Amino acid sequence: MKPQFHPTLVNGPLGDPAVFVDFLFERRAILFDLGDISALPPRKILRLSHVFISHTHMDHFIGFDRLLRVFLGREKKLHLFGPPGFLDQVWHRLASYTWNLVENYQTDFTILATELHPDGKALRARFSCQRGFQSDGNEVLNIADGLLLDEESFQVRFIFLDHKIHSLAYSFEEKCHVNIMKNRLDELGLPTGPWISELKKAVIREEPGENPYRIWWRDNGRIVERWISFGELRSQVMHVVPGQKIVYVTDAVYSDANAEKIVGLARGADYLFIEATFPQVETERAALKCHLTTTQAGVLAHLAGAVRVVPFHFSPKYAGMEEMLEWEVKAARSNGGL
Ligand SMILES: [Zn+2]
Ligand SMILES: [Zn+2]
Repeated sequence: MKPQFHPTLVNGPLGDPAVFVDFLFERRAILFDLGDISALPPRKILRLSHVFISHTHMDHFIGFDRLLRVFLGREKKLHLFGPPGFLDQVWHRLASYTWNLVENYQTDFTILATELHPDGKALRARFSCQRGFQSDGNEVLNIADGLLLDEESFQVRFIFLDHKIHSLAYSFEEKCHVNIMKNRLDELGLPTGPWISELKKAVIREEPGENPYRIWWRDNGRIVERWISFGELRSQVMHVVPGQKIVYVTDAVYSDANAEKIVGLARGADYLFIEATFPQVETERAALKCHLTTTQAGVLAHLAGAVRVVPFHFSPKYAGMEEMLEWEVKAARSNGGL
């Protein structure tokens, strides 16, 4: 299957946590965690629509200023999500600058920040540039079953993990993946065009097979159209497979409760990005610091049946030993034991 969503670890396994998920057929991306993002060029940062933050320890939130700097002066809306206390923290970051000239800006950059709570409640505030980033009060939201975002082609869910404070883990799940068979299109004399992405959306909303479907394209400036039943198109030119699942887990102590939640969230993930801060010999230290070890990360990946595992957040003490840490994750994942 040709993937539509491409996740990358912005700073490699040793640097600040941040996973950039690029939407390959749209000018859009999302980000998990907001560590140092100076490695991301502004054109990539400007694709961001949503940033999902695990918690606000400095290595997960220091990228806020770069984000703000790049978006400032643009007509954009950006969603940020974080744990309890997050709205205050966003406000304090904004309030540490002077904004006396922004009301004259022609454009309005708006941050929509959402603070998630374990009881399923959430608070959302709008910080708009033209108002000097003063919030206009909090809106209360109810979030059922950890479902944070439900868009036409994907969903984002979250869980709360214990890191001596709350730390959020997220899953990004494409609803289904539609492959178009180009050779079949050629046989039917149908050119590609914008109608293809509309067709994919029709699959996701489960368009009834008997409905006639309009296919159109431009030929020498005039619009040509053909009508074919949706069911026929589905069987002739499309191959529908389960969508991609990308899971992001970081900063959590190894406990039965955390393990059970992580395995549930990451079940069948195509990509599991999981912290593995310490090697196995430092299991005690990892427990003390409320982080996972390589072996624990590997076992969780094994139990979740994740297809690919990307360990990260290695302690800087192990710079130059990344391969050894990766090997430990891999070994625990293949034999599934601690
Ligand atoms: Zn932390
Ligand atoms: Zn951390």
